[in-house]
Amino acid sequence: MRSVEVIVFCLGRECVYRRSGGLGILNLKWFGSDLHCRWPWLRWDPEEIPWRMLPNDQEGEVTAIFSAATSVCLGDGERAKFWTDNWLPEGGSIATMSPSLLSFVKKPSRTVRDALQNRSWVRDISRGDSVLAIAQYLTVWDITQNILLTPGVPDHLQWKLNEDHLFSVKSAYNMFFLASVRFACYKLIWKSKAPPRCKFFMWLVVHRRFLIADNLERRGWPSNGYCPLCLVTPVDCTHVFVHCRFTQQVWLLFRDWTRTDFQVPEDRFSNTEDWWLQARKLVPKPMRRNFDTISILIH
Ligand SMILES: [Zn+2]
Repeated sequence: MRSVEVIVFCLGRECVYRRSGGLGILNLKWFGSDLHCRWPWLRWDPEEIPWRMLPNDQEGEVTAIFSAATSVCLGDGERAKFWTDNWLPEGGSIATMSPSLLSFVKKPSRTVRDALQNRSWVRDISRGDSVLAIAQYLTVWDITQNILLTPGVPDHLQWKLNEDHLFSVKSAYNMFFLASVRFACYKLIWKSKAPPRCKFFMWLVVHRRFLIADNLERRGWPSNGYCPLCLVTPVDCTHVFVHCRFTQQVWLLFRDWTRTDFQVPEDRFSNTEDWWLQARKLVPKPMRRNFDTISILIH
């Protein structure tokens, strides 16, 4: 059962880092693709390795990750592939810059040095009678006019995701989360002193994924749609934890009992996250971690 749960989690938000609103569970599919990037990286190792000449059957995802994360510093042009490697002076490859032209290239395996010699790259193109391909052909022609190779200096591969320009699986995995937004309740939940199961429960509540009537119905599970505390319908996570009269009464009693000053849940808050972020503003900073912990435990 546990392995089934892990597989289900790995399909959604749960694989996102905690600071971005997920649970930080490793996505094994992405991680496997990142691990496989080590092979094309090692193929660029300056030391001669016996298996370098073996067939290089890369998966599509691995090729895409590797291509996005690397660039080639041209030397003598004997290793960089003219059509597919990222050797262009302004970054990128001819394949990404001129996909229409590339579709007319039968064997895009020519090296940069070979291709620039007597413009032999032109002979790789067969037909190419579309207007877009002709425009891209002229662009490539202009770019290749100004390329100067340095004989005796081997081409060098750089990993763009690390400052030292060396490959690491971690940096490749992080690339999947470059566009993620910081989760406002990250510290509130995960830096609190509450037990892990309570933190997880609060994570469900903040993301409105707690199994109350609306979420039960979405899964096709039986539910009468009533709030179990005040018998109001329809009910959802925001009602139970913010708008429910019973919940609000609990928080009022707690505030009176502790003689502290914070915003109790009210109807004007749109959800649990909205209330929680507002409520802790009135709590002195040194006490906020304790307040977060208590908030989770009361939920
Ligand atoms: Zn209620």
